[in-house]
Amino acid sequence: MIIALALLAQATDFMTKDEALKLFFKNGERAVERCVTLDDADRKKVEEKYGSTVPAAQDVIVGVKDGKVTGYAMIVSEITKTLPVTFIVGLSPDGRVLEVAVLRHDEHIGTDCAKRRFLRQFDGKQPGDRLKMGANYDVVSGATLSCNAIARGVRRVLAVVQHHFLDRPANAAAFTQDEPVRQQRYVMGTTCTVTAHGDTAAVDKAFDAIKAVDAAISNWRDDSDLAKLHRDRSIDAGPELLSFVRGSLALSERTDGAFDVTVAPLVELWGFKGGERRVPSREEIGAALKRVGWRQIRVNGSRITLPEGVALDPGAIGKGIAVDRAADALRKAGVKRALVDFGSSVAAIGEWTVAIRDPFAEGKVLLTVTIRDETVSTSGSYEKFFEDSGKRYTHILDPRTGRPVEGVASVSAIAASGAESDALATALFVSKKIPEQVEALLVTDRGERTATGRFEKSK
Ligand code: ADP
Ligand code: MG
Repeated sequence: MIIALALLAQATDFMTKDEALKLFFKNGERAVERCVTLDDADRKKVEEKYGSTVPAAQDVIVGVKDGKVTGYAMIVSEITKTLPVTFIVGLSPDGRVLEVAVLRHDEHIGTDCAKRRFLRQFDGKQPGDRLKMGANYDVVSGATLSCNAIARGVRRVLAVVQHHFLDRPANAAAFTQDEPVRQQRYVMGTTCTVTAHGDTAAVDKAFDAIKAVDAAISNWRDDSDLAKLHRDRSIDAGPELLSFVRGSLALSERTDGAFDVTVAPLVELWGFKGGERRVPSREEIGAALKRVGWRQIRVNGSRITLPEGVALDPGAIGKGIAVDRAADALRKAGVKRALVDFGSSVAAIGEWTVAIRDPFAEGKVLLTVTIRDETVSTSGSYEKFFEDSGKRYTHILDPRTGRPVEGVASVSAIAASGAESDALATALFVSKKIPEQVEALLVTDRGERTATGRFEKSK
C-alpha cells in the first residue's frame, strides 16, 4: 500500500488534454472527437499490414475546417514498465506525424521520454515506416521502456488512421459532414430551439442574446428595464429597451395602430396577463381604452417617457426581437446556416423550409414555406383564449374597440426581421387585411384562406 502510494506520487503531469489539443489544433479548426470501432477482421488486417495490435474501440479526434480534414489526433496510453505513459500523436491529413507530446507519465522513471529531442524523431513518419529501435529511432538512455512505449503508440495511431481514414475516405467524410448542433431551452416563458451548423459555443451565445432581450423588455419580471420604466415613468433607456420601443412605434405607425404596444391595460383587463379571464363591462373597456395609444409614448434621444396609466406589452413583438438578436449572435460567431425557432417566430440564417401549423389541429401542418435569411411569425387564436357563454375570446385585441378580435384563426407573415414579422402577424390579425407587398397568410375561423406571395404558391 505504502509502495503503491509512493509510485502514484511520482506520476508526472506534463499537460492537460486541452493543452495537448491546442498544441495540435491551432488554426481555428473544430476538433471533432468520436469513437472509432474496428471489427475483428479489420483488426487482423491492421496487425498483418502494420505489425501493430489495435484495440476494438478508440477515440479519434479529427480536425475539421471548411468541410475538410485538417489533421488527425489520438491520445493514447501505453504501458512502460507497469504503469502507462499517456501522449498525443497528431498527424497531417495525409497521415504523417506532425506532433507527439506527452501528457502524463505514471512511472517514476523514464520521464525523459517526454523530451523534444526524443519525440521529434517521429516527425514525418508514415504508416509504412516500421518503427524499430536503433533503426529509425533512438531511445533516451535510462528511459528505454518509456521510449519504446511511445514508439508503439505512434505506430498504432499511424496504422489506425491509415486503415480507417486514408484507405476509406468515406469514414473521413463522415467526420467533416457538418452535423448541426441543436439545443432546446426554456426562455421567455416558452421553449426555443436553436439549430446551427456551428459549435455549441455559438448556440450558447444565441441563448445569451435571448436572455439579454428578456432581461430588458420582460413584463413578467420586476428587474427588467421595462419594469423600471413602468415604475419611474421616465428613464434613460438602454439599447435593448430603446430598440423595442422605437421598433414598436414604427410598426404601430406602419399598421395604423392595429399593432399597438400600449395595449397592456386591455390585456390585463381581459385577464390575459395571468389574471381572471372574463368579459369586462363597457365602462371598464372605455376606461382602459383611455390609457391605450402609442402616440402617448415620448422618446427623446434615449429617454423614454410614459404618461401616468400607460403601460407597454411586449407580447406581440418580443419573441420576434429575440430571434433577431439570436440570429445576430450566431452570424457574429461565424455561423452560416441556422434556425432559431420560438414557435410563433422563426428566424433563418440560410435557406430553411418552415412548417406552419394548422390553426384547427395541433401537431398538423397546414403548409410549408421556404425562407432565406428571413423570418416568419404566426399569431393564432389558439395560443391563448377563454370561452364564455359558448363564445371564444382570444388574446389578440383590437386597440380601437378594446375587444378581442373575432373571426380570425391565424395569421402568418414573412419579413426581413423577426420584430417586423411578429408585429405584422398580430397587426394583420387585427386588421384582417394583407397590405400590398406583404407576404402573408390569413385563415379565418371558418377555414377560409387569403394568401399572398410564397403563401399563395405553397400548399
Ligand atoms: P404569440 O404570443 O402567439 O406570439 P402575438 O405575437 O400575436 O402572439 O402576440 C399576442 C400578444 O400580444 C398578446 O398576448 C398580448 O399580450 C399582446 N397583444 C394583443 N393584442 C395586441 C395588439 N393589437 N397589438 C400589440 N400587442 C397585442
Ligand atoms: Mg406577433
